[in-house]
Amino acid sequence: MKRLFSGIQPSGDLHIGNYLGAIRNWVRMLTEYDCIFCIVDYHAITISYEVETMQSRIINAAAECIACGLNPDECTIFVQSHVPEHTELAWIFNTVTPMGDLGRMTQFKEKSEQHKQNVNVGLFDYPVLQAADILIYKAEAVPVGQDQIQHIEFSRRVARAFNSRYGETFPEPFHLTPNIGRIMGLDGKSKMSKSLENHISLSDSPEAIKKKLATAVTDINRKRRNDPGNPEICNILTLHRLLSTEKEIEYVGTECRKAGIGCIECKMILAKNMTAELEPIRERARELKENPERVREVLEAGKRRCRTIAAETVREVKTKMGLL
Ligand code: ADP
Repeated sequence: MKRLFSGIQPSGDLHIGNYLGAIRNWVRMLTEYDCIFCIVDYHAITISYEVETMQSRIINAAAECIACGLNPDECTIFVQSHVPEHTELAWIFNTVTPMGDLGRMTQFKEKSEQHKQNVNVGLFDYPVLQAADILIYKAEAVPVGQDQIQHIEFSRRVARAFNSRYGETFPEPFHLTPNIGRIMGLDGKSKMSKSLENHISLSDSPEAIKKKLATAVTDINRKRRNDPGNPEICNILTLHRLLSTEKEIEYVGTECRKAGIGCIECKMILAKNMTAELEPIRERARELKENPERVREVLEAGKRRCRTIAAETVREVKTKMGLL
């Protein structure tokens, strides 16, 4: 079985962008690959955060991943900082990475803009640590949302640079991305993100989902109920395509174009479908959050397995580099 790796930041509530853009896809791959999923806390600290809430966010992220269907009997789930070899390999990769490559990364540009008061070296170096996360397990498949493709391509370059300098060691990983584009935030401006107030959380109640959708930006040119809309540029249609039936997608698209349906009516159909998909997840996550010991056991088992693999890779790397 080929190995698969992906990560999620414990930087806030998991949201429907994470679920529809990534986690739902991961669940489908459990039987096809040897799957390793990581709660990437070292990535999350590259933006300002509250120290007191970090532990609960780590547990919550793991609980929600399990609740979404990442059954711990079928995959490995662990916390990045529990396996210190990731940062050790990242340092080594820093030495085969040109600075210019990192400056070009879209995520770095966007996050530096959003967090102007805290543009730290970790944020700049983020893709190098991500390359280490993947390559330390010699993972080949990396299922990510569209926003992360550039980083996976960067990981391929790191693998190539290391291999050509020190000898064949790492496979070049490939991304597996659902063909849905990135899910925009409710503000219609940035991608939906945990660290921005523009998301619908997996833990939101049906009422909260309705309320949030009601305020979501649609086609900005559709100012009045009687104006025809352009569903192709509307984030709500993107979400319908991921959650509604063929018939409903066809209906809202056609009716929007001829002003036969108002935005609120269209959003309420979506709210119904979103609630139906998220309710069982919310319920399972609630049970797990009430029993954090169960989640900690999963993460402990994950750590044991991952440390063994990671230590072996680092040993191989250091030997090839003349460090051992
Ligand atoms: P966030 O930006 O919300 O902190 P992460 O960096 O933890 O998300 O990403 C976890 C996974 O979710 C990644 O595979 C990422 O590509 C995916 N993802 C995050 N936001 C979106 C989005 N708005 N649309 C599609 N996929 C997304």
